Amino acid sequence: MLNASLQALAAALADKQVSSVELTQAALDRIAARNADINAFVHVDPEGALAAARAADARIAAGEAGPLTGIPIAHKDVFCTEGLPTTCASRMLANFVSPYDAHVVARLKQAGSVLVGKTNMDEFAMGSSNENSHFGAARNPWDSTRVPGGSSGGSAAAVAAGMVPVATGTDTGGSVRQPASFCGVTGIKPTYGVVSRYGMIAYASSLDQGGVLARSAADCAPVLSAMAGFDPRDSTSLDRPAEDFGRDLDKPLAGLRIGLPREYFGEGMADDVRGAVEAALDAYRTLGATTVEVSLPNSKLAIPAYYVIAPAEASSNLSRFDGVRYGYRAPEYGDLNDMYAKSRAQGFGAEVKRRILVGTYVLSHGYYDAYYLQAQKLRRLIADDFRQAFGQCDVIAGPTAPSTAYEIGTKCNDPVQMYLGDIYTVAVNLAGLPALSHPAGFGTGSLPVGLQLVGDYFSEARLLNAAHQFQQATDWHARRPPEA
Ligand code: GLN
Repeated sequence: MLNASLQALAAALADKQVSSVELTQAALDRIAARNADINAFVHVDPEGALAAARAADARIAAGEAGPLTGIPIAHKDVFCTEGLPTTCASRMLANFVSPYDAHVVARLKQAGSVLVGKTNMDEFAMGSSNENSHFGAARNPWDSTRVPGGSSGGSAAAVAAGMVPVATGTDTGGSVRQPASFCGVTGIKPTYGVVSRYGMIAYASSLDQGGVLARSAADCAPVLSAMAGFDPRDSTSLDRPAEDFGRDLDKPLAGLRIGLPREYFGEGMADDVRGAVEAALDAYRTLGATTVEVSLPNSKLAIPAYYVIAPAEASSNLSRFDGVRYGYRAPEYGDLNDMYAKSRAQGFGAEVKRRILVGTYVLSHGYYDAYYLQAQKLRRLIADDFRQAFGQCDVIAGPTAPSTAYEIGTKCNDPVQMYLGDIYTVAVNLAGLPALSHPAGFGTGSLPVGLQLVGDYFSEARLLNAAHQFQQATDWHARRPPEA
């Protein structure tokens, strides 16, 4: 039942073929059976979930249900959830219980979704493999010796393992799209400013954006529609009319112009990824789309620019974790400075410390111009590249990641190797564009391959339309890992 589409689940709930309590119990049972292997959840809330499910059932009985009423959902543990732990998978916040809900969490509650728990992630969303978690690595349901991707790895794994039909994620440099790709699910990151960051613990504020992971584009649409919208509590939230992101799902693709960046199809992409992506592009052509080569000449500068700007913002954002107001405090210390130093040294993991050090360095007097300012200039060039490309095409397609999911432990001691895996995703965040990843086939070892679609600003409905049409014609998104 949990493997059905959201539309089918909503219909079954409306027809009383199943209750939200039953659905929620099925999700909880599935989590209980599989989480020891997958480690997708860092906190499960059975009592809260069943209470929310009973309330949803009452709402359905009263004829007040929307498309998400009674649907089990999981939130990445970067979103504040009132009364529940919100840890960012960090020792720093391991005992933090949020006094309020993030905007996204509140919106999805109002829509009647049933929060079953919080998902694992890289600490403070810094990482591409989910190995940087205080609670241990999450594992890929397709092969539990492999990473699920990151940083929203727990959300992607939870959906792929059939624990929940949908989960939220955040994407600063690829953290919704890349784990979606590694786990064979669909993930969308909207235009910067479409989803409020209020209550979403900040990593790099000018890049962070909430998104959705689900089995299909059609399932992502109503969740994104519910969580988007203006919020005066986030100064970068955009004041735009509410949108139904699923409004164009059924539009035929005839005439869609897909741009293929020359730089994305050169060296660096694994052969099995290339094979699946090329075949998926053929499927798009069969659906009536045309492809045109475009160029994003500054692509190779995206990683260096991103890994200056994101740590710079992180070093500033994470200065609030000082052991005074909330979060971890070292049990023993001398004076105040020693308390700060010990609390931060003990509370943060290695990757977070690395980013704080890099960020502080690039912002320091004497290096600011050489690194931070330079990176901001590259950011503009990268955004301009996309603007040029969108003069020739409607969407841009390519691989989401250069490889399929790799084995746990193979990249975590080599940060540069890890960062290079973000080559196809970070430019999108630097430009603030919307993008999604959808399953495109399988590579060596039956591991999922994702195709990334990037759109111009506010083209979420078009991206979902393209992915949905692809998913109507193919069944990659419907394949399940061995034990799901
Ligand atoms: N892998 C990238 C990083 O480590 C992106 C993470 C994210 O999108 N949160 O910064």
